[in-house]
Amino acid sequence: MTLKISDIEGIKKSVKLNEPVVVTFGTLYEVETIVIKVATDEGVIGFGEACPFEPVTGENIETEMVCLDSLKQSLLDNDPRNIEELHTIMDNSIVGHTALKAGIDIALYDILGKSAGLPLYKLLGGNSNQVTTDITLSIDEPDKMAAEARKHVDAGFTQLKIKAGIDIENDKLALQAIQDAVGTEAHLKMDANQGWTTKQTISFLDQTQSSSLETIEQPLPYWDHTGNQAIKHSATQPLMLDETIHSPHDAIAALVNNEADMFNIKLMKSAGIWGAEGINRIAEAAGITCMIGCMAETTIGISAAAHFAAAHNNVKYCDLDSFMFFKQPDWLLDTGFKQDKELITLSDKPGLGIEINL
Ligand code: MG
Repeated sequence: MTLKISDIEGIKKSVKLNEPVVVTFGTLYEVETIVIKVATDEGVIGFGEACPFEPVTGENIETEMVCLDSLKQSLLDNDPRNIEELHTIMDNSIVGHTALKAGIDIALYDILGKSAGLPLYKLLGGNSNQVTTDITLSIDEPDKMAAEARKHVDAGFTQLKIKAGIDIENDKLALQAIQDAVGTEAHLKMDANQGWTTKQTISFLDQTQSSSLETIEQPLPYWDHTGNQAIKHSATQPLMLDETIHSPHDAIAALVNNEADMFNIKLMKSAGIWGAEGINRIAEAAGITCMIGCMAETTIGISAAAHFAAAHNNVKYCDLDSFMFFKQPDWLLDTGFKQDKELITLSDKPGLGIEINL
């Protein structure tokens, strides 16, 4: 069957958060995102999502819409199932803009699944049809974070991701308070979002050695490769890199430099599933496990990430909770998965399995 891309559309959407979220970059109240719709001459339609986060990938909604126009011109009339070829075309057209490319990539994979009649997790490897996600604790007063942690554990979550990186003294108190509140009922990870120095990180990890903190994520600025090496050299807790790792090239560099124990892959950084596959393969071959995280995607991007994670044994952890903090938009008719507390079970509908009314 021949199949040609007949149109690519970017539809801006804003989604309200249940509560404001504080990260080192500021406070978020609502989230803007772009739904990508790729149409074909045979009537098969693929949906994706480009959810830019300027501090990490340098893109915003406006730049995405401008760049989408030029990418569209170079992609029209191509077979949407030739995903490697289409990534080459996109990379030759525009450098970077990985969230936008991710939106297109996800829609292409949705079409691939629909034309093959298979759910994406099977096409990508089929290790499982389920993933377990953690839930994130926003930066706040330590006792409030501890109360929030208790609430999540009571609601059935066993993995907590603690946001940190604004004030390291507060981070220490928060970790202690959360540990006191949940005991051994939850696994704890901390994400400092580039907010600490090398010395601070080493001292923090030394002082919290007896805590149940399992992983420290991206304590240093994304460019601080020698700092990562120093932490790896002196700390026993695993170091996970997020903002440092966008592409397979970054993954190789981190391995060669012995900078990391784990990678946090995000589709918006890796230009979609294609790049995520590359990072995970490199990691797996080197004995590095992966987590898949998210920016502020709706269930469209989350579904794509969950398919990728479920497909692969080496993607051990999921941080796919963004949608739990949103008021579910009425134009998203079917999320493509069922959520039971921390467990996400993918549907067996072809592609992403999502249904959208736009
Ligand atoms: Mg992170």
